[in-house]
Amino acid sequence: MVLEKVRASLVDCTMRVPRPAMEQVLVRITACGICRTDLHVVDGELPNPKLPLVPGHEIIGVVAAVGPNVTTLREGQLVGVPWLGYTCGKCRYCLRGNENLCENARFTGYTIDGGFAEYTVANEKYCFPLNAKFSEPGSAPLMCAGLIGYRSYSMIDKGAVNLGFYGFGAAAHILIQLAVAHGKHVFAFTREGDRAAQEFAIKLGSVWAGDSNTSPPEKLDAAIIFAPVGALVPKALRDLDKGGIVVCGGIHMSDIPSFPYDILWGERVVRSVANLTRKDGDEFLKIAAELGIKTETRLFPLREANEAIGLLKKGSIQGAAVLIP
Ligand SMILES: [Zn+2]
Ligand SMILES: [Zn+2]
Repeated sequence: MVLEKVRASLVDCTMRVPRPAMEQVLVRITACGICRTDLHVVDGELPNPKLPLVPGHEIIGVVAAVGPNVTTLREGQLVGVPWLGYTCGKCRYCLRGNENLCENARFTGYTIDGGFAEYTVANEKYCFPLNAKFSEPGSAPLMCAGLIGYRSYSMIDKGAVNLGFYGFGAAAHILIQLAVAHGKHVFAFTREGDRAAQEFAIKLGSVWAGDSNTSPPEKLDAAIIFAPVGALVPKALRDLDKGGIVVCGGIHMSDIPSFPYDILWGERVVRSVANLTRKDGDEFLKIAAELGIKTETRLFPLREANEAIGLLKKGSIQGAAVLIP
């Protein structure tokens, strides 16, 4: 499924199976999750996507062929292909270990073709080799919702107990399993009146769930904002205890309204999280396997990508949407 121009539906195209170039593998895709970032790409909210583009960066698949100089992967290996598709290894960010900020990075399903397809090619160094535990389509959302959610979670002080999750979709429903296993108390904020999402959050172990415009019964030590809604930043600051942090986990957000300094005062912090490092992925996938993190997914045939995107925009998918070629 191809994005030919932004703010348009994806087009069902027949394309030639790509040939793996230097250090690339050909991946036969078995599942690809739809991430909120894909919606931002399709809607033209992220600048300069490759066009035409095959979106999708939560890929699970099997290596079908290897290109020249591939050393770590073999045909038949199950792999996950995430958002981070390439980094230069030379810029000042790469050199200081922040490859997520690389100046020359390329991103799967944004500046290189991704996973809304039957096959894709990926640089072997950015694929995660997976064991058979991850072969189910439900593993696809771990590749971004899980992984970038984990990076957001890792920005929180280890001693934080009360965590607020603002937006209870794909990322939050994965992260809550980690947080609950760590003994955290999760307070889930959803769209106003979204009782289904609130019940879902309680089922997964939230101590409280409510509308995003209501106050939690206790002050929070940390907040992660998954919804792309800038107005949630001052709201989360108001819910936060002194010394707390608000982590914005998304790549795009509507403008943040101005707010009085006193809600930031008291050493509260607001920060963003950008992309991922391969280290984040290694750490998270190890934890996901140990904890047996499960996802709730709704599967769609690849050709129904536009319908799935529409439902995701409306907020009518519980957990994550996954395309099956
Ligand atoms: Zn770099
Ligand atoms: Zn994503």
